[in-house]
Amino acid sequence: MARFEVVGNNIGAMICALELANKGNQVRLINPLPFWGSHLVGNKVDGQKFDFGRIMYDFFSYNNDNTSDIKTYDAHVRNDVGRFYSHIRKYIESHIEVNEMSTPQMYFNGEMVDDFLFADSLAVLSEFDEVTKTKIKAELEIIVNGDRSLHASNKRNPSQEFMNTDFAIVSEANHGKTLHQMLIAPYLDKILESKNPELCAQYHRIPWVPLYYPETLLSNFTESPQELPKPKFHYPTAGYFAIIIEELERLIKEHKNIEIINDKVVAVKIGESFTVQLKCQELNATNLIWGGDQEQLALALGTEMAPIETRKLPITFTFIRLRSEAVKRQFSVLVVVDEDEIPFRITNQTNCSGRNDEFTKLVIECNPTQLAKGAKENGCYEKDLVTQSLISMGIIETPDVIETLAIKRVDKTIRIPNRKNEEIFNHYYKSLTSHKGNIIQLGSSTDFVAISINDQILQGLRIAEKYG
Ligand SMILES: Cc1cc2nc3c(=O)[nH]c(=O)nc-3n(C[C@H](O)[C@H](O)[C@H](O)COP(=O)(O)OP(=O)(O)OC[C@H]3O[C@@H](n4cnc5c(N)ncnc54)[C@H](O)[C@@H]3O)c2cc1C
Repeated sequence: MARFEVVGNNIGAMICALELANKGNQVRLINPLPFWGSHLVGNKVDGQKFDFGRIMYDFFSYNNDNTSDIKTYDAHVRNDVGRFYSHIRKYIESHIEVNEMSTPQMYFNGEMVDDFLFADSLAVLSEFDEVTKTKIKAELEIIVNGDRSLHASNKRNPSQEFMNTDFAIVSEANHGKTLHQMLIAPYLDKILESKNPELCAQYHRIPWVPLYYPETLLSNFTESPQELPKPKFHYPTAGYFAIIIEELERLIKEHKNIEIINDKVVAVKIGESFTVQLKCQELNATNLIWGGDQEQLALALGTEMAPIETRKLPITFTFIRLRSEAVKRQFSVLVVVDEDEIPFRITNQTNCSGRNDEFTKLVIECNPTQLAKGAKENGCYEKDLVTQSLISMGIIETPDVIETLAIKRVDKTIRIPNRKNEEIFNHYYKSLTSHKGNIIQLGSSTDFVAISINDQILQGLRIAEKYG
């Protein structure tokens, strides 16, 4: 039996601590924050539990293989996590009950259709008028017969050219200019406030935009359309995402092998073992697991800092509770493409959970700059602009049906997968590799894009399996 020190409070750190303890090890879990669950903690409004935006379990992957050994997971291999989705699902379902969500929807040209942007539905292609269809088809025909250097298949094993080309260009090279400009560019513009967002093409799934093969799209304009397997998203039947965090917290607090220390890490010194200096005490550690950011680890080790800060996505969340009968259009998640509607995404938590509650909870996500600008131009409060948008999309009929409304701006959510951020990440990664000794990294410090909930869960399980 060994002793471990785990720093962190997110789902990965919690699972890692719990599973190490379940194997009989002694664990000290150092939580630097006054709560559990990091982004998944959610927000309480009038005692009601809301999520910070659309958060769901993704248990579908092309490379899923339930025989894979967790210890072989490599966070540096693109979507290696997909091999273990069955393990992840089993683990989650052994703690909480989940519901298979209805297909996410997309709001486009004033209509709701099955979502093209992250739910892999190509139904929208048949919704276009004949002129647009002809244009898209002609562009796709040229693409499939042309040069393949930016073809979507490159994401599996990207060439330098593919890696160095912005997502917008790669998207046009696969989807055609018309389709990109109609469906993808307006959505990205809302999220990232830029007409030309610099995104890495191979990480397109982080902001949840697609990179389809042009052949698949083109086949949808022929007699034999290629269907893509539909991803199946899941959500807790409890009606809010943080139920998993509450359950893990309960198990951790009850576990006789886990000691919780609520304190910040000031410094880590590396000798024969580690000295972890906290604000209020000093600990000796032999097996130190770091669940925080790379920047925080660099600070604790006193290594060189990167010259610029990582850019993270700012989001303004609006939390609304209203009687279920007042919701006039049902959906689990609604991705809003139309530029004249301010939100970029709306989640109906109650619908996602499959519950038939008297009240419904909606979380609306907006770009903070665009929301503030819109409110100023319209001479109204931000909350009124969000409400107006719900009415204009036919989701509610009048503002007075809303019983609870709260608005919260969060300046730093997930890091944006662009080259600049990747350079900063790599800068730290290199410098930490030579300074961190045997510190085991977990979560967002492991790899630039290993930040999905699945990555976090799997890393927690893998570390417990490998070292416990
Ligand atoms: C709007 C939105 C929607 C999302 N939807 C999904 C989704 O549907 N599916 C999905 O898989 N993912 C989704 N994600 C990503 C996911 O929810 C998490 O954001 C991601 O896993 C990052 O992890 P985290 O927030 O849990 O913690 P991170 O940001 O990775 O890490 C925070 C960690 O740092 C530690 N820490 C904090 N301060 C210190 C300090 N001073 N010293 C040391 N450690 C410290 C914390 O304790 C914690 O362990 C979404 C993200 C956003 C923003």
